[in-house]
Amino acid sequence: MKLNQNFFRLEDDYLFSKITEKTEDFSKKNPGVDFISLGIGDTTLPLCETVIRAMQKAVDEMSRKKTYRGYGPEHGYFFLREAIANYYKKRQVSLSPFEIFVSDGAGRDIADITELFDRKSKVLTIDPAYPAYKDACIIDNNEIIFLKTSEKNNFIPVPDYDIDCDIIYLCSPNNPTGAVYDKKTLEKWVDYALKKNAVIIFDSAYEAFISDEDLPRSIFEIENAKKCAIEIASLSKTAGFTGIRCGYTVISDELVFQDHKINELWRKRQSIKSNGLNYITQRGAEAVFSREGQKQIKSAICYYKKNIKVISSSLYSLGIWVFASSNSPYVWAKCPHNMNSWEFFDIILQKAHVIVTPGEGFGKSGKSFVRLSGFTGKKETLEAVNKIKNLKLTKDFSRFA
Ligand SMILES: *Cc1c(COP(=O)(O)O)cnc(C)c1O
Repeated sequence: MKLNQNFFRLEDDYLFSKITEKTEDFSKKNPGVDFISLGIGDTTLPLCETVIRAMQKAVDEMSRKKTYRGYGPEHGYFFLREAIANYYKKRQVSLSPFEIFVSDGAGRDIADITELFDRKSKVLTIDPAYPAYKDACIIDNNEIIFLKTSEKNNFIPVPDYDIDCDIIYLCSPNNPTGAVYDKKTLEKWVDYALKKNAVIIFDSAYEAFISDEDLPRSIFEIENAKKCAIEIASLSKTAGFTGIRCGYTVISDELVFQDHKINELWRKRQSIKSNGLNYITQRGAEAVFSREGQKQIKSAICYYKKNIKVISSSLYSLGIWVFASSNSPYVWAKCPHNMNSWEFFDIILQKAHVIVTPGEGFGKSGKSFVRLSGFTGKKETLEAVNKIKNLKLTKDFSRFA
């Protein structure tokens, strides 16, 4: 027996373990210090009332013989897939419930989807980005091409026709930068994918954070995208389902490669290798898409986005360059005085007792940025921001000035 050697090419959860290590180390030397974390990539507000009620009702149904349910449909109950299809209809995207696959989260679909493609596929990912794209490809031993982004292109890359590839991972709004692709840019990507005979894996985990009506929330708002793209969405950040778990993957009937419908391949793959999602959660997810549910999740999203405003305006007033996106729960800030992200992390940790996420953890192009999250409580966010504001940019950073 031989192990899959690709596992040893993965960076060992390096980012978050190094953050913990540095924080604990500082704590040991300075006992009694309280930290506030603006590094959270997880929701913190409770599930909304409509969702809770729907789930409680589903639990009750499970307690009675007459309404009890055993194994459910593998790809999700029809009521949920229909609710999702109706959600898309509001954006003028017409989908059949059979083009929607419910899962227990986007994270696994992002990694599992590569199973449909040849092991020698060339994968294009954006740098910086969510590390799961890269890690899934490392395990599969795919060739990875990193397309760099920076403040010069507002962290939105345009396709380069000189680069050939088979699989393209795009995420909008992007984690960590918060950059959102506009229609024109997405049209370019669709055109590029069709010309290269490549497939786009579109991660729309943060689509609900887009408030600008002109910006696309689904790649299927772009003409011909159904012929080249798969969309992977999640209720994690949208509705606080990070612990409850629910995501969905959309594959149109029109997505065909080498005379095979990708929809059918995924159906087969999921029937064999996934367990589906429990009834109770699916009733909760259905409630997210109801009118009342949509109203209630928006109020949580607004809460997180208010935190973002507070963070970005105070960094800005300090003279720190921030990539301000009003469509994301994250602030992407440039480290002052040409510091790298770990140096800036150290100073904020040691002088302000605030934890941020070094951009380097999301790729090489993130090395002079940090990510600050709006998922922390309002009170803690204000406190953290005040501590950061008290930093004297020239004195505390004198080593770098
Ligand atoms: C949080 C997040 C997800 C969601 O993953 P789940 O498995 O559904 O919780 C997907 N993509 C990105 C970029 C994320 O930040």
